[in-house]
Amino acid sequence: MVNVDEKLEPILTDVLRRNAGELEFHQAVREVLESLGRVIAKRPNYADNALIERICEPERQIIFRVPWVDDKGQVQINRGFRVQFNSALGPYKGGIRFHPSVNVGIIKFLGFEQTFKNALTGMPIGGGKGGSDFNPRGRSDGEIMRFCQSFMTELHRHVGEYTDVPAGDIGVGSREIGYMFGQYKRLTNRYEAGVLTGKGLLYGGSLARKEATGFGATYFVERMLATKGHSFEGKRTVVSGSGNVAIYTMEKVQSFGGKVVACSDSGGYVVDEHGIDLDLVKEIKEVRRERISEYARRRGAGSHYISGGCIWDVPCDVAMPSATQNELTGRDARVLVKNGVIAVGEGANMPTTPEAVRLFQEAGVLFAPGKAANAGGVATSALEMQQNASRDSWTFEDTEKRLAGIMHSIHDLCAGTAEEYGAPGDYVLGANIAGFVRVAEAMDALGVI
Ligand code: NAP
Repeated sequence: MVNVDEKLEPILTDVLRRNAGELEFHQAVREVLESLGRVIAKRPNYADNALIERICEPERQIIFRVPWVDDKGQVQINRGFRVQFNSALGPYKGGIRFHPSVNVGIIKFLGFEQTFKNALTGMPIGGGKGGSDFNPRGRSDGEIMRFCQSFMTELHRHVGEYTDVPAGDIGVGSREIGYMFGQYKRLTNRYEAGVLTGKGLLYGGSLARKEATGFGATYFVERMLATKGHSFEGKRTVVSGSGNVAIYTMEKVQSFGGKVVACSDSGGYVVDEHGIDLDLVKEIKEVRRERISEYARRRGAGSHYISGGCIWDVPCDVAMPSATQNELTGRDARVLVKNGVIAVGEGANMPTTPEAVRLFQEAGVLFAPGKAANAGGVATSALEMQQNASRDSWTFEDTEKRLAGIMHSIHDLCAGTAEEYGAPGDYVLGANIAGFVRVAEAMDALGVI
């Protein structure tokens, strides 16, 4: 296990003490601090002026009540969060998650990760994240709309195109962004398209934004595979989840010649040895909002559904965890390594536990961390902001070409940084250091704020 450098140990101890019980936040901070020992050794000035302590403390944390009325006329109460983590490089930027598991620790881990991810893109965006413990599953369209309106009624005071620009995440897609944008417009009497990204195409959205996170993760992994003379061509690939990131990861993997044999949702997973039929997954998940078990029922022979279970038991060459945090454990990593996996690319945020990351690295498996591999979503959100600012809209091809270029440069930056700091092939270290250095340089230039 990697240890935190002794100069950084007191910082970690303090983060754990000040944020008691926020386990995912602890995990995310520990991983970054484990990488920074080598930076401090080379450039001790980064430890001056409590710079690292400041990076670990969000600039602002907002927690608010979200009251709304359900279809039965009952008043429901949820809790809303927005953590504005770091604005050294630009306005806070990061998604909104609606899921019953959401709490302040989860939003803080996501906001912390987002700060370095956004720095890796090289674009002028700071880091933030938000959400609610609202569970959208089974809710009618009207309930979703009333919830989103109530959520934005409080959030609108804290966001804006030069302040904080939210987007989607788990449970928040273009439908929810539309309702939130509508309410923001109504409350402010301003058509400020740049306040949210992931919008529908008729009201300021960008072509290729919906596809961007999954496509971007696949571009990253394709380039990582190429460093060892491999490609997706003919590779058995398993993608967990069947939401936005998973669907467009599967689409790009298939277009690169890979064979996607399994995907999942929180109820279980489907295996299809003929290759996943993506039109069917889109119909079930994007149009009908049904469970993935429907896939096996409608696809018939050749595919089967396993309720519960573990998708990582399905043998594959490439694994793309694209559902949620800590979904791929040490046990799962052992199974994947035994089954001959050669690469793992995180489409989700922190889906691989620290033990599993270590096992992959020890086994020589190529490992792409989420803060680098899934940065294509936020990068394309920044492209959406550019289009909004210039009142322009670009073609799908042009936007995807820019996305591919950004993902290749993030890959090369991480690989080059890992090499510079004496750990060739360690993308975790490369991503953490490269992201940190950009944020640290900007914070240093802005003074103690
Ligand atoms: P999504 O469209 O809501 O899909 C989430 C998928 O993951 C669904 O299939 C869901 O299954 C599954 N899932 C969620 N929570 C789960 C849990 N606790 N256990 C098992 N499965 C679970 O969300 P998404 O936008 O694809 O986001 C997926 C991941 O990518 C998240 O980690 C998110 O932070 C990250 N990410 C997203 C973007 C983006 O642009 N959307 C960008 C960067 C990173 P159920 O339907 O059964 O819940």
